[in-house]
Amino acid sequence: MVEDKKLSVVIPMYNEEESIGALFDRLFPVLEDLRIPFEVICINDGSMDSTLQILQEELKRRPGLVVVNLARNFGQHAAVMAGFSEASGGWIITMDADLQNPPEEIPKLVDEFRKGHDLIGTIRDARQDTRFRRFASKITNRIVSRISGISLHDFGCMLRGYSREVVKGILDNPEYRTFIPALATFFARNPVEIHVRHEERAVGESKYSLLKLFSLQLDLMTGFSMWPLRILFFVGTMMAIVGLVAAAVIVALRLYYGPGWAVEGVFTLFAALFFLVGCQFFALGLLGEYIGRIFQAVRKRPTFILEWVKGPETQTKKVLRSIP
Ligand code: UDP
Ligand code: MG
Repeated sequence: MVEDKKLSVVIPMYNEEESIGALFDRLFPVLEDLRIPFEVICINDGSMDSTLQILQEELKRRPGLVVVNLARNFGQHAAVMAGFSEASGGWIITMDADLQNPPEEIPKLVDEFRKGHDLIGTIRDARQDTRFRRFASKITNRIVSRISGISLHDFGCMLRGYSREVVKGILDNPEYRTFIPALATFFARNPVEIHVRHEERAVGESKYSLLKLFSLQLDLMTGFSMWPLRILFFVGTMMAIVGLVAAAVIVALRLYYGPGWAVEGVFTLFAALFFLVGCQFFALGLLGEYIGRIFQAVRKRPTFILEWVKGPETQTKKVLRSIP
């Protein structure tokens, strides 16, 4: 059992004027019942409706509410990052504003924190989304965990718990675009996944268009793996080899059967072309490999995370986990 810490609940909000009232009416009683200090950090992600005004009204009557206002719409993950940077709790929970993640499930996450887990992932039971979204997610969850090597069962569920240390790790890695649940697994020491209920979006509509969903998957794929580039390199090398062989065969046949067979030079031209195209793909793949390396260096993600350093005087210094 770990001793209780302050709980920060981080909620990104983009045009959620219809949800806020119902959300707070369910969320605050749950948090009050936990009997631990808490704060609710709502990030207004450049909403165009009255989300911000409603939040400002709520500030007057909800102790524990913190409102973070972003300059424009930066997207859900950027908004969560902004929330993380303002969170003061030792335990941090993210959730959506639309009540698809029932606030009543929060005590379950707190129980896992108490058991000492530093990253709590969730798997949505009986997911209440359209059949297309469920199918798309199933496929992408599989592909993404295969490619990125991160074994999360449900990348999409945002009701998640993070310890202060994991959040610090994420914040210290300001990447241009990232996928928080996946990055978190990189910093976690004792992760766990639990099942939670999932409900239909209470009001309003999904803020994710098909294009936004696609771009999120692309972030996840390119942000955590160089496989797409590696495939280019592999295919390029294969094409170069095939091109070379095809060129050699044509040249050999031309020498054997004479210029008549090669339609007066046309086939020889093909041979040269095959060879050149192959070389091009090879070069492209090689370039890709270098670009991938540059990309990794630019990301500045640490190659390792130090946890303990022991000196000659046997004094122990905590490196990553130095935050109270
Ligand atoms: N959201 C955000 N910025 C955006 C899009 C969404 O802060 O640009 C928030 C949104 O208000 C909600 C959460 O992210 O709290 C998840 O969005 P939504 O429910 O629309 O996504 P879905 O459940 O369809 O994946
Ligand atoms: Mg939703």
